[in-house]
Amino acid sequence: MSIQEAQVSRADFDQVMVPNYAPAGFVPVRGVGSRLWDQSGRELIDLSGGIAVNGLGHCHPALVAALTQQAQQLWHVSNVFTNEPALRLARKLTEATFADRVFFSNSGAEANEAALKLARKVAYDRFGEQKYEIISTVNSFHGRTVFTVNVGGQPKYSEGFGPRPEGITHVPYNDLAAMERTISERTCAVILEPIQGESGVLPADQTYLDGVRALCDKYDALLIFDEVQTGVGRTGKLFAYELYGVTPDVLTTAKSLGGGFPISAMLTTEQNAQHLSVGTHGTTFGGNPLACAVGGAVLDIINTPEVLAGVVEKGEYLREKLRILGEKYGVFAQVRGKGLLVGAVLHKQYQDQAGALLAAAEREGLLVLVAGPNVVRFAPSLIVEQVDIDEGLARFEQAVVKFVAQNGA
Ligand SMILES: *Cc1c(COP(=O)(O)O)cnc(C)c1O
Repeated sequence: MSIQEAQVSRADFDQVMVPNYAPAGFVPVRGVGSRLWDQSGRELIDLSGGIAVNGLGHCHPALVAALTQQAQQLWHVSNVFTNEPALRLARKLTEATFADRVFFSNSGAEANEAALKLARKVAYDRFGEQKYEIISTVNSFHGRTVFTVNVGGQPKYSEGFGPRPEGITHVPYNDLAAMERTISERTCAVILEPIQGESGVLPADQTYLDGVRALCDKYDALLIFDEVQTGVGRTGKLFAYELYGVTPDVLTTAKSLGGGFPISAMLTTEQNAQHLSVGTHGTTFGGNPLACAVGGAVLDIINTPEVLAGVVEKGEYLREKLRILGEKYGVFAQVRGKGLLVGAVLHKQYQDQAGALLAAAEREGLLVLVAGPNVVRFAPSLIVEQVDIDEGLARFEQAVVKFVAQNGA
């Protein structure tokens, strides 16, 4: 490298970045597997997985190879043309799921936007303009565009951005009676996370998803599963809908799909797909060859019995260890989740302290996440090594000890 780049540090963030984030006090510069190093050379164990994105850890050799190979070949041609990596990835996704058709975009929000537009269009074409209502759930998260943030069930994220789009109703999650009271002939779609991720790693009940599926069929509403966080192996199945045996009409996925390269997808059936005819929807970057080449390599590795079985095993191990740790120090009321999407719910005594525990973990050289103010979330690499889990847990225990000493009664 001949070009000398300027020195930058965390302090630059506060001067040149829009202050909508509050990043950690250090700047990661390099990662391998489940380990990260910051500018000072300090090593950290990463059990946060870039918020459930780095499904194969950092710089997995197969992804580096797929990306660099594609980088020598073709970067972008626009959707005026199709390209081989996109077609290959679409084949892999349709072969592995209920879906017949795929639409690629770049983020979870965009995939949800496409799913919601599809639902509105299907209802409009088949039943007319009065069938446009979308039912979502309280505390759900579906992205940050003006539309998806209003579909999400967390008003704190949607306040202050002008008039809300019409035709969106929120009902309590896992409450079938509430769904039954709300759904009607005017409903075009119900959108659900099979496990509410951002708001606390809360899995749906089996009877709930069964019941919502039946209600959607009864009222000709599309059932959209937002698997942006639960998709691509996170729960130990390729997609969480397989865990429940409840098949949606539309599925969105993103985070782990690119293993760190931005890509998302909306999957649906042949019949529904036909309503997004030429010109009805689009995106400049969606289906980009670089992203799709990486996505293809991600799927090849994750969609194997060994890796998926490993996710189940490691998830059970991690939850069990966290339960033991929680009991030993009296910090957790519950440890829940599926596969390697794990939430440790703080005891009442430590109400609203998840952020403080995350900070304590960081001081011990461990990266974890929160999911709301009361849940510490783990979403590590799906192929995280045993030594990294164990060393991570050891660091977490140190953090818990200090956290309890500072915040205990
Ligand atoms: C992260 C997330 C999104 C938003 O994805 P972006 O890529 O940030 O737009 C949507 N839905 C769920 C369930 C998510 O976890």
